[in-house]
Amino acid sequence: MTLDTTTLQIAFGAIAITLFVLFYTVSFRQTRSAYSAWWCAAIALFFTGTTSYLLDGTAHQVWANPLGNTLLVMGAVCVWAGARTLRTSRPAWLQLTAAPLLTLLASALDDPAADSWSGGAVFLGMMALSIGLASWELWRLPSSYSKVQAPLAVSSGLVAILYLARCLAFVIEGPDGYVFTTYFGSGTTTLVTMLLLVVVSFSAAALSAEQIATDLRARADRDALTGLLNRSGFLDLAATHTDRLARADRPGTLILADLDFFKAVNDTHGHAAGDTVLQTFAEACTETVRSTDLVGRYGGEEFIFLLPGASVSRSEDITRAVSLALRGHSTPGGFEMPTVSYGIAAIEASDYDLDAAIAAADRALYAAKASGRDRSVRAVGPALEQGRDSSAGPAGPPGA
Ligand code: GH3
Ligand code: MG
Ligand code: MG
Repeated sequence: MTLDTTTLQIAFGAIAITLFVLFYTVSFRQTRSAYSAWWCAAIALFFTGTTSYLLDGTAHQVWANPLGNTLLVMGAVCVWAGARTLRTSRPAWLQLTAAPLLTLLASALDDPAADSWSGGAVFLGMMALSIGLASWELWRLPSSYSKVQAPLAVSSGLVAILYLARCLAFVIEGPDGYVFTTYFGSGTTTLVTMLLLVVVSFSAAALSAEQIATDLRARADRDALTGLLNRSGFLDLAATHTDRLARADRPGTLILADLDFFKAVNDTHGHAAGDTVLQTFAEACTETVRSTDLVGRYGGEEFIFLLPGASVSRSEDITRAVSLALRGHSTPGGFEMPTVSYGIAAIEASDYDLDAAIAAADRALYAAKASGRDRSVRAVGPALEQGRDSSAGPAGPPGA
């Protein structure tokens, strides 16, 4: 059976337009996810690229074929860029334009007037590379990400292999070789790409919805001002961490921190300066703790830490380091940073009650405030032991 390339290309165009309209109205307009935007762009580019090839064999092929090659590579790069937004941020302009530009140069500078396959090796190589990278991005997503990620990675991986094989056959035998024309001709590729378009469009709709859900979940767990976990985000994660500590039979500590006389910062220097101090305190915290420790904004100017595996005296060192780091930062108006009071509660290996630890840390924090601020107080059971923060200056109103 010989596949008639022109008929297949027209069928491809019809399917691409239908998918574009369906995908745009059903998925993109509803989710507006980055992934669905890239996929819409990819379908449109595959469609216009394939349409350009209809001029192959006419006087217009001199511009139509290089344009078709470039548009298809741009489409493949969009598939990669979309897959990348699921894992990291937006790709850079250079990453988006390098492969299409190379393809355009190779196709235009070769012999596009006489040779239908002008720049063919570069075109096929760039298609294999871009779709291969897209498949790799999808593989690298955590397996919990989505149910459709594996079929997507496999199907794009197969298309990348197809293009790589075409590229090798093209380089070894040329466009008229037996293997290239029999197995890897334009007809076969158009058919395979058509199937890919259908598979990916269906899975892409699911992935875009999941991307939005993941994004919303991440935002719901974070405090907008400081970027730290918010109270519920912290409590959710802390529960998981304490369960893990319990299973490993390791102790940990819980710290509540409260900025001293913070209201005076707002009253004297304005709310915006207060916000900056809160952001700076959050920075001082993340700079000081380990990546395995949890820090959250518990509310207002109160912060909470869970330090798995840390002793109470290690936690006292950490509170000293956080206060020191805070003082090391400059304030917007040049005023002195507020001091901080801390309540520290041990989570003993034999008693993993997070709520009880928070309540104990809160009592210890109250005691730290009552006994002059700018210090940490440890809660050991119902009794309180006090540890004056030796690196801190005398307690008092900030900026006074
Ligand atoms: P203490 O040493 O006893 O903790 O005194 P304080 O002034 O720090 O405590 P108080 O509870 O009286 O005041 C806390 C202030 O924190 C009051 C509130 O306006 C301010 N605050 C809470 N959230 C924010 C915020 O997001 N931005 C700013 N700028 N201020 C905030
Ligand atoms: Mg306070
Ligand atoms: Mg407070």
